[in-house]
Amino acid sequence: MGLTGIQIFKMLPKTNCGECGVPTCLAFAMNLASGKAELDACPYVSDEAKEKLAEASAPPIRPVAIGAGTRAFKTGGETVMFRHEKTFYNPTALAALVNSDMDVGDLDKKLKEWNAFQFERVGLNLRPELVALKDANGDASLFAAAARKIAGESEFGLILMTDNLDVMKAGVEACSFKKPLLYAATADNADDMGALAKESGLPLAVKADNMDDLTALSDKLTGMGLKDLVLDPGSRELKQVFQDQVGLRRAALKAGNHSLGFPSITFPCEMAANLDMETVIAAMLIAKYGGIAVLSDFKGENIFPLLLERLNIFTDPQRPMTVTEGIYEIGGPDENSPVLITTNFSLTYFIVGGEIEGSRVPSWLLVMDTEGLSVMTAWAAGKFAGDMVGTFVKKCGIADKIKDKKIIIPGYSASISGEMEEELPDWEVVIGPRDASLIPKFLKDMS
Ligand code: SF4
Repeated sequence: MGLTGIQIFKMLPKTNCGECGVPTCLAFAMNLASGKAELDACPYVSDEAKEKLAEASAPPIRPVAIGAGTRAFKTGGETVMFRHEKTFYNPTALAALVNSDMDVGDLDKKLKEWNAFQFERVGLNLRPELVALKDANGDASLFAAAARKIAGESEFGLILMTDNLDVMKAGVEACSFKKPLLYAATADNADDMGALAKESGLPLAVKADNMDDLTALSDKLTGMGLKDLVLDPGSRELKQVFQDQVGLRRAALKAGNHSLGFPSITFPCEMAANLDMETVIAAMLIAKYGGIAVLSDFKGENIFPLLLERLNIFTDPQRPMTVTEGIYEIGGPDENSPVLITTNFSLTYFIVGGEIEGSRVPSWLLVMDTEGLSVMTAWAAGKFAGDMVGTFVKKCGIADKIKDKKIIIPGYSASISGEMEEELPDWEVVIGPRDASLIPKFLKDMS
């Protein structure tokens, strides 16, 4: 179990020098206990204390980095059972499976098709991260060639899947620069696979048939000096998979079980007869508590909803997604272009911005900081009141960019127009549509 802030404090130098970024050793101890600080930030901790404190500062589930480049990611690092307690940090990575004997042309086609699954939402690029390459026939050169191709010709990270040490070595040689996950060390090959992972500095998946064996294997591998493990408890039946995933999370967080304090890998592709069912299973695993989910394929209709679900589960529920306050130019506006205003809740901004863009009427969009609240909520909470909006319009500098002082406000906040006119006596306040989908027609009719 981790140490409390007071227990940690007793081991710190107590000089309150502030070099760790907080003014006192006690504040640093509290941050360390809650996982908000790294022990390295204090240069004066003794070696003895360091050893003891390492346990307290380590997250209960180790974050494991996989991949390199634009699709690199971390899995694990979670600190709570339920999202509403704090937040989930590292989204479930999504992988699609290919066999090493796949025709080169077909592999090419797949990689291109999968690469195209990138979706812009609320300013983020949503996309899957991994290709899982499975050894089909023990042919090391074929496996290495496929690994080389995936690593070199696509952005995807890799999971190298084989029990055969020679095949794994060939795969590692071909694509170690992409930091693949090696799958998997088992009771039969743990010594060899562990040595290979250690020598190459790559993360290693551990597969067993039950939790007890998984614990023993994890202990053996950490005893060899391996730190970056990913766990597969071996279950492939839905109910058991669910129980195991919850069991792993509880063991690490509630029982302080370090042997199981690693992210997990799951295989919907081995649990269902079709991609639709795999998708449903993967959806469950995104919520509870898969670190990686391997599917048999990516299709638009399965990957898109999974990416959206993942986005929602892994955003901080206590902090609305926001965009920066300011003046946004859409479609190259000039001094004659209309001016609209909205709030800085990301979803609101992207919906309104998207509709303005779709209208093809170049416009200025003013985004006011309402602490991430949507228009109606901000208005109800007094954060989008007429005088505040008026003051913002005056201060933001839009008046210098336009000829006619005319501003379009959201239809749902029509009641603030009077106050705005008082605050902006030389402006005309126009009430826009209530529904963003009506903005294109509204702008076209105005122009
Ligand atoms: Fe205390 Fe170390 Fe922080 Fe200085 S750097 S205030 S000694 S914890």
